[in-house]
Amino acid sequence: MNTPHVVIIGAGFGGLSVARQLRKASVRITLIDRQNYHLFQPLLYQVAIAGLLPSQIAYPLRTIFRRQKNLTFQMSEATEINLDGRYVRLNGSVIAYDYLVLAVGAETNFFGMESIKQESFEVKDIQKAISTRNHLLKIFEQASHEMDADKRRAMLTFIVVGGGPTGVETAGALAELISHVMVKDFSGMQFKDARVILLEASDHLISSYPDELRHATYDLLRHKKVEILLDTKLADYNGHYATLGDGEQIATNTVIWTAGIKAAKVLDMLQVERAGMGRVRVESTLQLPQNLEVFVLGDAAYLVDGNGQPLPMLSTVAIQQGKRTAYNIQRIIKGTAPEAFHYKDPGLLATIGRNAAVARIWGVSFSGFVAWVIWVFLHIYRLIGFRNRILVFINWAWDYVFYENQIRLIMKE
Ligand SMILES: Cc1cc2nc3c(=O)[nH]c(=O)nc-3n(C[C@H](O)[C@H](O)[C@H](O)COP(=O)(O)OP(=O)(O)OC[C@H]3O[C@@H](n4cnc5c(N)ncnc54)[C@H](O)[C@@H]3O)c2cc1C
Repeated sequence: MNTPHVVIIGAGFGGLSVARQLRKASVRITLIDRQNYHLFQPLLYQVAIAGLLPSQIAYPLRTIFRRQKNLTFQMSEATEINLDGRYVRLNGSVIAYDYLVLAVGAETNFFGMESIKQESFEVKDIQKAISTRNHLLKIFEQASHEMDADKRRAMLTFIVVGGGPTGVETAGALAELISHVMVKDFSGMQFKDARVILLEASDHLISSYPDELRHATYDLLRHKKVEILLDTKLADYNGHYATLGDGEQIATNTVIWTAGIKAAKVLDMLQVERAGMGRVRVESTLQLPQNLEVFVLGDAAYLVDGNGQPLPMLSTVAIQQGKRTAYNIQRIIKGTAPEAFHYKDPGLLATIGRNAAVARIWGVSFSGFVAWVIWVFLHIYRLIGFRNRILVFINWAWDYVFYENQIRLIMKE
């Protein structure tokens, strides 16, 4: 009973990394997530564009931790965190902790624009990616028998908002879904009206990437016939018209919002200092300044790196912070001081579609086919589960050879 109890909320990249790293430690771990699976978010857009099945990018948590004897998984939503009382309220129960790890990630930020939130589509979780996929597939069906040319044009106009990696990947994949697959499925339909428009509020795409990769991304997307509107904000969307910042209106039935995220809602109840995007300010050791038994990491945490910039919301940051958190918990238990976290940048990668990606690895920037091959194999390698790796590989190989997106079933949600 004296074994320290570590409660981890969130089984995303960060939470999973802490739990695995503590597998041999003398601690009792309770891992809590509102979902019963770990989700590989970087490939969510592939679910949205009918390229992969949800089950190929998610893995059951109970299977992952089947052999880890010091861990109990509980599928629950954390609804209250009491830092003074050192307990977490779940829907239905209360759980006390000696050490708490908050790895709750982030959610979509619509910056208070309710109508855009109501009417647009997202790729932030499996349900949203499936809704996006169903909508995309349905809209092609509807367009195929729409006699009114203006209405058909609106149906075939797709706006992706946000020129970060997710927006770029989604826009590129959508353009290819149309030009490689839909043109074959709907051979009688006029596709000359089809448009994929990428809106970005700043004056460049993928702002966290070096200049040469931003330019390469722009060129690769233009090559795939994506229209890129820089310095352009989406001001409003009512399901039929997208209103841009300058008042221009574009008739469209599809807006996919990838333009912002903020730290998860459950953190709102904590009386702690928040920084950009609602992230919780942590010590360099990832501890909460006033509650040193509490660690916050991944997308939920705000920590500045050596260049004075906040660490990006990336899986690689969350995984590395998870390892450091596990290490620090063990150090504290032994009575030694925790150590600071330093991010080791493994490089940057983003794909723009078939044979097209941009990469910066070991300080070298490159783009095109080689970057794309690295992207493909790295993402297959990083998936959890041998079966998923094989299935995704076969799926992609098939799609590559036959120019297909195989998951084109419209399912009930
Ligand atoms: C579409 C998309 C594409 C991306 N592409 C890339 C990429 O190419 N490369 C890259 O490095 N990163 C990418 N990212 C970012 C990356 O996925 C995140 O940085 C990473 O997931 C953060 O890890 P985390 O552990 O902080 O949070 P997450 O992985 O988001 O995990 C948070 C977990 O907490 C759970 N949770 C939240 N609130 C509660 C609660 N109240 N109770 C119980 N459980 C809760 C959630 O269910 C979730 O499982 C992408 C993200 C998205 C959405």
